[in-house]
Amino acid sequence: MTPPPKPSAFGDMDPETFRRQAARVVDWIAGYMEGAERYPVLSRVRPGEVRAALPEAAPEQGEPFDAVLDDFERIIVPGLTHWNHPGFFAYFAITGSAPGVLAEFLSAALNVQAMLWRTSPAATELEEVALGWLRRLLGLPDAFEGVIYDTASVATLHGLAAAREWKVPGVREAGLAGRAEVGPLRVYGSEQAHSSVDKAVILLGLGHRALRKIPTDERFRLRPDLLRAAIAEDRAAGLLPIAAVATVGTTSTTSVDPVAAIADVCEAEGLWLHVDAAYAGPTAMVPGYEWVLEGCDRADSFVTNPHKWLFTPFDLSAFYSRRMDVVRAAFALTPEYLRTREAGEVRNLMDTGVQLGRRFRALKLWAVLRHFGAEGIRARLAEHMRLARLFAEWVDADAGFERLAPVPFSVVCFRASPQAGTWDEAALERLNAAILDAVNASGEIFLSHTKLDGRYALRLAVGHLRTTERHVARAWELVRREAARLA
Ligand SMILES: *Cc1c(COP(=O)(O)O)cnc(C)c1O
Repeated sequence: MTPPPKPSAFGDMDPETFRRQAARVVDWIAGYMEGAERYPVLSRVRPGEVRAALPEAAPEQGEPFDAVLDDFERIIVPGLTHWNHPGFFAYFAITGSAPGVLAEFLSAALNVQAMLWRTSPAATELEEVALGWLRRLLGLPDAFEGVIYDTASVATLHGLAAAREWKVPGVREAGLAGRAEVGPLRVYGSEQAHSSVDKAVILLGLGHRALRKIPTDERFRLRPDLLRAAIAEDRAAGLLPIAAVATVGTTSTTSVDPVAAIADVCEAEGLWLHVDAAYAGPTAMVPGYEWVLEGCDRADSFVTNPHKWLFTPFDLSAFYSRRMDVVRAAFALTPEYLRTREAGEVRNLMDTGVQLGRRFRALKLWAVLRHFGAEGIRARLAEHMRLARLFAEWVDADAGFERLAPVPFSVVCFRASPQAGTWDEAALERLNAAILDAVNASGEIFLSHTKLDGRYALRLAVGHLRTTERHVARAWELVRREAARLA
């Protein structure tokens, strides 16, 4: 046997040290996953505290990795808000599950970059396979081609860029500015649509005014009749409608827009239909929830976030389109140094987006789908929805509280609304904001808030794999305790 080559003085870390440090890291992670509950869920550091604990300049001499890990535990961890805490109920609770974390470790080590098929054939082909599996689980037709982006925001930007490419002749060459023949454009979404739609129209040069927000019904769903009327009014005013965004699981209340009716309007009017199912999309695989993606087979583009409610470590957003040719028309551009012999036979992922370099994200989605299996995922999603319904029942049964929106999935919007005394909207907002601050200061749970029809709402979202009925019950206990104390 030939001895291993001597490491270069210009290398990074010898294999023995790496093994030892990796073991320490793995040990820390395993303890963290098991015991995140011992930390306060919402970080208690004050602004600037982490920065002040760190040197102003990088070290001149290299340091042992042990020193890095020591400071990680001493300075960084206290400055974390623990998304892994089972009492995390704010925004959308998420889980970077163990199989996903392990796959991320491998992905970091491989450091492959799948801009071209040849720069890592397995990364390109695994992305196709993993997204194909997910598409079937969701019940979307095979005509939808998939690509992985970092976030839903970026996916929506690509969907609307494709709409602009499709509806505005010559936009790729001539752009929009200074073209008298291209009037103002219009994109539609509901009042409850995510702010990423706003950012997309801003970035695409349409101007924020190009986004027309359509009112919702009493259950926070876009009203297709008002969409139709808005399009007619805009056409009469000389505007060019190009796209509509339907949301399946809005951010505030998780309402589901009537996608089929919106698709009818889009087809009649020649608009691109983009569906934002960032949060609720995965539930379509749960028996009884097939309705969630009804009509989405008619979307031109569609996004759902495995990093949100499919236990995949941040970040991984799955974008699908029936018309990936239009996405390619908007984005494909091959400089000489990236030309390859096999270009005609393979997909080069750099063609379906603005990024050239891209991480090997498919590995973690593949690992997650295999580790849990469809059955395991369905059972976990169903349990999260059961816990949210349970919490909603407690709210409904308490005369001192009211629920402010339906609970189709795992999010509950509610508020304390004491019967006695005079509580106008402003007073209720002050009371509930104070309750929010108090329960979040407990370190045991973390809730967030929203506003619905001008009413301040507390918001509880279940989505972490280690959240159990005990945690949800504790959240209710803390909310009631603080409401009683503050009212
Ligand atoms: C979370 C969310 C987004 C944004 O997701 P990112 O991946 O963070 O960009 C967009 N739309 C909806 C409906 C969401 O719930």
